[in-house]
Amino acid sequence: MEIKKFGVVGAGAMGNGIAQMAAQIGCEVVMRDIKDDFVDRGLSSIDRFLSKSVEKGKIEAGEKDAIFGRIKGTTDMGLLKDVDFVVEAVIEDLELKKSVFKELDELCAPEVILATNTSSMSLTEIAAATKRPEKVCGMHFFNPAPIMRLVEIIRGYSTDDETVKITTGLAEKMGKIAVEVKKDSPGFIVNRIMIPHMLEAIKIVEEGVASIEDVDIAVKNGLNYPMGPFELMDLTGIDIAYFVSEYFYKELNKESKWVSPNLLKTMIRANKLGRKTGGGWYDYSK
Ligand code: NAD
Repeated sequence: MEIKKFGVVGAGAMGNGIAQMAAQIGCEVVMRDIKDDFVDRGLSSIDRFLSKSVEKGKIEAGEKDAIFGRIKGTTDMGLLKDVDFVVEAVIEDLELKKSVFKELDELCAPEVILATNTSSMSLTEIAAATKRPEKVCGMHFFNPAPIMRLVEIIRGYSTDDETVKITTGLAEKMGKIAVEVKKDSPGFIVNRIMIPHMLEAIKIVEEGVASIEDVDIAVKNGLNYPMGPFELMDLTGIDIAYFVSEYFYKELNKESKWVSPNLLKTMIRANKLGRKTGGGWYDYSK
């Protein structure tokens, strides 16, 4: 099955990176968000990334124009009606994702695979919002999507082998390394490992054991990780760490290890959501 036209729902940090990669492998892309401002922000981000790639000599200027020219930003969901494959990348909210999948199911041809970039949530539950649960799977990219090499391909209860095969092939065509998550389990592989280390880092700071800066220095130099947990949260979104830990708490037997520390809740209440835009653990205005 050839994928010529690619749909992306959500033009945020992940959606625009996924749209860019689909355009880089030659697909026509429709990237949809709910407001013109959000669509424009997504397109500007792609433009910036591709311009840097030209400056670094990774692609020619003409190639940049061709890639960018293949991406149509829109607020009109109707433009996704004739796409061959869709990745949903709206915020990490199960009810919202279910309503997007219901809409996509009504709009897209029955053979079209509907994938979600969810960081943690149940594929089975998202798929149940459609009449094609066998064609729904997780296609979990990492941030920044054009750079990070891993993609987790996640099966829901009904996902068929062909859906996994096509989605894996697509990820590999984008130059990614794909791993299969065989069971629909919260957080899949990477986030199941990553979230506890983020929560523990916040607790260390909350208890006054060490500063944010020293926790990051310790993890980078003691574990040889490229980023500390606070730097990583500022990049990936503090809200996502919060949503995912709340989801784990609900889904994984309400174990106390998943309870969000007060300091994390305070950051959410103060609208310090990371992504280096609205502030986060570090002050990027200086
Ligand atoms: P984001 O907040 O940067 O972007 C989400 C976008 O979805 C926003 O622009 C919002 O306006 C848009 N949106 C909301 N409702 C919509 C709708 N009905 N139709 C179209 N667009 C809609 O979030 P993000 O960081 O890009 O995360 C998106 C998804 O990817 C989440 O499920 C998240 O858990 C997952 N994810 C995030 C990361 C990360 O590091 N940020 C990594 C992997 C996966």
